[in-house]
Amino acid sequence: MFDSLSEKLQNVFMRLRGKGRVTEADVNEAVREVRLALLEADVSLPVVRDFIGRIREKALGVEVLESLQPWQQVIDIVYKEMVALLGQQQAPLNVASTPPTIVMLCGLQGTGKTTLAAKLGTFLKKQGHRPLLVACDIYRPAAIKQLQVLGEQAELPVYALPEDQRKGPPTIARMAVEYARQHANDFVILDTAGRLAIDDELMDELGQMRAFVQPHEVILVVDAMVGQDAVNFAEQFHKRLALTGFVMTKLDGDTRGGAALSIRAVTGVPIKFIGTGEKLDAFEPFYPDRMAQRILGMGDILSLIEKAQEAVDEKKAAALEAKLRENRFDFNDLLEQLEQMKKLGPIENLLKLIPGVNNKMLEGMNLDPKVVERRKAIILSMTPQERANPTIINASRRRRIAAGCGQSVHEVNQLLNDFERMRRMMRTLIQQVPGAKPNNKLP
Ligand code: GDP
Repeated sequence: MFDSLSEKLQNVFMRLRGKGRVTEADVNEAVREVRLALLEADVSLPVVRDFIGRIREKALGVEVLESLQPWQQVIDIVYKEMVALLGQQQAPLNVASTPPTIVMLCGLQGTGKTTLAAKLGTFLKKQGHRPLLVACDIYRPAAIKQLQVLGEQAELPVYALPEDQRKGPPTIARMAVEYARQHANDFVILDTAGRLAIDDELMDELGQMRAFVQPHEVILVVDAMVGQDAVNFAEQFHKRLALTGFVMTKLDGDTRGGAALSIRAVTGVPIKFIGTGEKLDAFEPFYPDRMAQRILGMGDILSLIEKAQEAVDEKKAAALEAKLRENRFDFNDLLEQLEQMKKLGPIENLLKLIPGVNNKMLEGMNLDPKVVERRKAIILSMTPQERANPTIINASRRRRIAAGCGQSVHEVNQLLNDFERMRRMMRTLIQQVPGAKPNNKLP
């Protein structure tokens, strides 16, 4: 996500970092480079102009603080402005005072709307709600079928009218809301029709549906890969439908980031969720601060911990975080983590949430599940002392471990090297996270 933008911005900061003092010329240079990086990422021009203006003004007015290096202050300014650009606070769903809460999803065809209906349903169900998915796209029978298939997969009820009883989408929506009331569904998620381009007929129909059911949320699903055009579509939808929120989908792809960075500033409507993959759990609330940290390479340790907490119990997650901070992470922890990976999904996704980890670092790390199993076998051949204190693993212990798990000494060495590299990387990264205490005792 935003790899190229992220890399460019990090380079700007790296160059500043080398300097003890940051002069006006340095600030100007950095600001120019940030501007270029944003334009190349397809952020809309007026947004870039405003953003850069604010940064320049603040960066030049930086007072010398004892606690922070000047370059750290510049990053801090860019970070705060980016959080503001992205909407400042996480924007929760508007919820009805008397259920059901009605969420109307709109968007062009192929943006990921139907998938999103099921993702949102899954997300709400995990929180103990009883969502009802509603197929309002009567123009493409395949779309109804797709929602039904996804609903089955997510074990969520889907409301759809049989072909011979077809009604107009606004009527279907109203009937579905009535059905939800009768069946104690506290959320109604309306999957509406999409077109390849905006047309009046579609807009009129969506407008009528909005008037019919008065949804608490009118959400536009935006494909992040579309770039600047997405912002234009968003403006047009907003004008006609008075949107209450956006969901950016396909942020897992090689998107430059322009739409995600511009859309809130251009429309004033918040991004509420993001989609990060085709699977139903590839969906999360949008946190402006975390996204800014991710873009600026400050990492996303909060998401990481939260994700770990979903799968692991809270105490374990807290203990793990403390171990990471204090460099006490050992093979017992690694083993536990490898076992948890199954619950957490692909390791790459998780690793990418660690501050500073980028695609380059992941190259060369073998994350194939089969290799993971082999590595588990090596750890299981270690004694408890060896697992807790890897430094005692000398050559003869390595031979014994290799024999114990039926693998070569070379493979054992590889695991030990990778483990050491990982520990070092985590220690460096964790110290960059806000709130981390420097630990001078570390080797
Ligand atoms: P709709 O026409 O707007 O209803 O779009 P669909 O829900 O049918 O999605 C279109 C395609 O995008 C499908 O192949 C989805 O699997 C895929 N898709 C949806 N959301 C995401 C996402 O967040 N990431 C990726 N990579 N693909 C997605």
